[in-house]
Amino acid sequence: MNKNNVAEKLSEILGLPLEVIEKKLGRTIRIMSYKGIDYAVLREDLGKYREGTTILLDDEKIIHGYPSIQRLALLEGVPLHMIDEIVVEEKMDGYNVRVTVTSGRVVVAITRGGYICPYTTARINKLYGDKIKEALREYEDIVLAGEVVGTENPYVVYEYPEAGGFDYFIFDTLKDGKLLPLRIRDEITEKYGLKHVPVLARLRKDDLVGLKKVIDDLDRRRREGVVIKDPEHRVPPLKYTTIYINIRDIQEGMKYPFDEGRGYLFSRIVRLICQVYEYNITGEELNRLAERLGKAILLPAVESLKERSKGRLIAATYKLVFPSEEDLNDYLEFIEELGVEAVVKIVGVSSRGIEVELMKLKDTHGYYSKILETGYSPLD
Ligand code: ATP
Ligand code: MG
Repeated sequence: MNKNNVAEKLSEILGLPLEVIEKKLGRTIRIMSYKGIDYAVLREDLGKYREGTTILLDDEKIIHGYPSIQRLALLEGVPLHMIDEIVVEEKMDGYNVRVTVTSGRVVVAITRGGYICPYTTARINKLYGDKIKEALREYEDIVLAGEVVGTENPYVVYEYPEAGGFDYFIFDTLKDGKLLPLRIRDEITEKYGLKHVPVLARLRKDDLVGLKKVIDDLDRRRREGVVIKDPEHRVPPLKYTTIYINIRDIQEGMKYPFDEGRGYLFSRIVRLICQVYEYNITGEELNRLAERLGKAILLPAVESLKERSKGRLIAATYKLVFPSEEDLNDYLEFIEELGVEAVVKIVGVSSRGIEVELMKLKDTHGYYSKILETGYSPLD
């Protein structure tokens, strides 16, 4: 397809003026291809379409971006925003993946940003390809949205014993970009042998004691937090994360202080401030928490600087398992197209596939190098 045809087609599918599309094409609208499936990615909101929306050009199908979820600082906010009953689901710590089937019956996995990720697609197909095809034959207008979790992916590495390296937990179903009642998700996953995120409780919206109990339990189990939903999605969901994960995130992020940025650190400190207030944490317990926070900020950052001073690379390492060589090649093409700076090493071949180590160099590498070379601070 040439550029003019693409612009016309997009203008038609999205119902937006041709000039608008032409201006954005190649910039905030990006054209990509996966196994001969041409698609467009919206890299920022465009009219009523959310960032991360994907348009399958041949199918003329729009896969809307998954909506952003409002974060709560205080659990006391729950009764202010919900209607009557709430469903408390586990918020799993991985990455957001929408799944759809093309008219050619290819199951594709789309990341939050709107890209068909060849790695995620290959792994999900291997686990659930046939089941998803059957499910989406019956529910043909529906897009599945879920979290990929585990240690074998190039995005968010966090161990879930139940995930065995890589698994997919569905948390919502969407139709025309709208979240559908939770029972549709439960029906589909039950009927077709797919997994959904754990539903931890169904409570009245003002049962804060019950809600805190659920969150305390997650904190002890070192889990990320909850998403609180209206069973029918009549009002938007809310998210809330545990003290444990807020500190652990800081600890992880501060390995690469110049990558995660100041917003990353400050937002998590604000979460903790409100938690200390609402949970009324005082005295010795508060001192211990402050110490954990201080260590989480300082220690990983210093450790990385020492590593750099010894000449080591400051990079994040990921373990990936590709079901086939073709899958690996598709993925390599994909990251090259996106301009991801990465070193890829094949570390072994097993019955599960080709095991690969992927290293992504961090911006912190460059910043630390400069500091060590010049003695200058990059910040005032
Ligand atoms: P945003 O809410 O703006 O997308 P974000 O991209 O930083 O923020 P998170 O803070 O991780 O994402 O929170 C929202 C994400 O949580 C969802 O996009 C989804 O990937 C994930 N998630 C995990 N479990 C659930 C669940 N049970 N219901 C909905 N989303 C969930
Ligand atoms: Mg997340």
